[in-house]
Amino acid sequence: MSKNRGVVYLGPDNVEVQNIADPAFIAPDGRKIEHGVILKVVSTNICGSDQHMVRGRTTAPEGLVLGHEITGEVIEKGADVEMLEVGDLVSVPFNVACGRCRTCKSQDTGVCLTVNPERAGGAYGYVDMGGWIGGQARYVMVPYADFNLLRFPDKDRAMAKIKDLTMLSDILPTGFHGAINAGVGVGSTVYVAGAGPVGLAAAASARILGAAVVMIGDFNPDRLAHAEKMGFVPIDLGKHDRLGEMVAEVTGDPEVDSAIDAVGFEARGHKGGEQPAIVLNQMMEVTRAAGSIGIPGLYVTEDPGAVDEAAKVGSLSLRFGLGWAKAQSFHTGQTPVIKYNRQLMQAILHDRLNIAEIVNAKIIPLDDAAEGYHAFDGGAAAKYVLDPHGDLAKAS
Ligand code: ZN
Ligand code: ZN
Repeated sequence: MSKNRGVVYLGPDNVEVQNIADPAFIAPDGRKIEHGVILKVVSTNICGSDQHMVRGRTTAPEGLVLGHEITGEVIEKGADVEMLEVGDLVSVPFNVACGRCRTCKSQDTGVCLTVNPERAGGAYGYVDMGGWIGGQARYVMVPYADFNLLRFPDKDRAMAKIKDLTMLSDILPTGFHGAINAGVGVGSTVYVAGAGPVGLAAAASARILGAAVVMIGDFNPDRLAHAEKMGFVPIDLGKHDRLGEMVAEVTGDPEVDSAIDAVGFEARGHKGGEQPAIVLNQMMEVTRAAGSIGIPGLYVTEDPGAVDEAAKVGSLSLRFGLGWAKAQSFHTGQTPVIKYNRQLMQAILHDRLNIAEIVNAKIIPLDDAAEGYHAFDGGAAAKYVLDPHGDLAKAS
């Protein structure tokens, strides 16, 4: 009899919390492994990239256990795990990485070469990412545990900040990577596209990196109002489509030093229809010559629900000549979480980064996951954190 329960994808707009198998030290290809740990999941977040699957915008198979944003306590370890002990509280980077291949050795863990037979890069509970079982569940197995896991130095202090620390598994390092790649530094002017959780995490990252002003564009009035409350300058994209003009109203200049795309391929235009290239084209327009554009927003190689044939295979109508003429730099790809999570953990533990408040973390029981998915999809200005064992409710 299994004691595990998890969020299972059953088809477009349909997820359900079901009894699932207990985790085991077995890789997706059936190999027995000794380098993993079993975690009791303390917190696990719903992500915008989960929404792409749940909206039916990917080829995610029915029965997939979702969840790649995981924080947990080690309850069992394989014979080859040397640096972790039962009882340790750890943050799990969403990237599954082997720590042994060429890209892992250079800390490019978002594109590990060995954990996914289809392509570079693995993740838990995600379509085309190697078949690793997701962690929106009570228990989960994490492979290559010594390499992947970030152990919190003091369990009690960590539990006191757990709502913030839960953001280390993905969105905070993802936003930070966007800001670093956009070249944000002291005095930078920054535009972030998208006021969802990743956009807010990118904005917060830009601020701790020293940005002078951080603007966030969106259509959603609740998300814009929340961004403003957190000290960012809201840009209401519903007004008109001349973004440079709105930026100039804030800074006196229609261009910024750094731009961050936290929207991705399901981007919408001013008139409402989906335009997958619109944000990237706006970024080129609004970023200064020789400026940098960070693109943490997700773009895909297969999009069965796309608006046209080209976009179905990820081909977008980019005005690339503009970016070339302005000598801009573009930075794509998933964040390699381990490059940033330790520093960001310290910033949280020492009260430099109130990320839970900035992304408006909302804790809900695991069994309410479907409602969380629904509210988030409806544009709620919140980041939903699932609490599978009631540990978060107890901690706060
Ligand atoms: Zn995520
Ligand atoms: Zn690797």
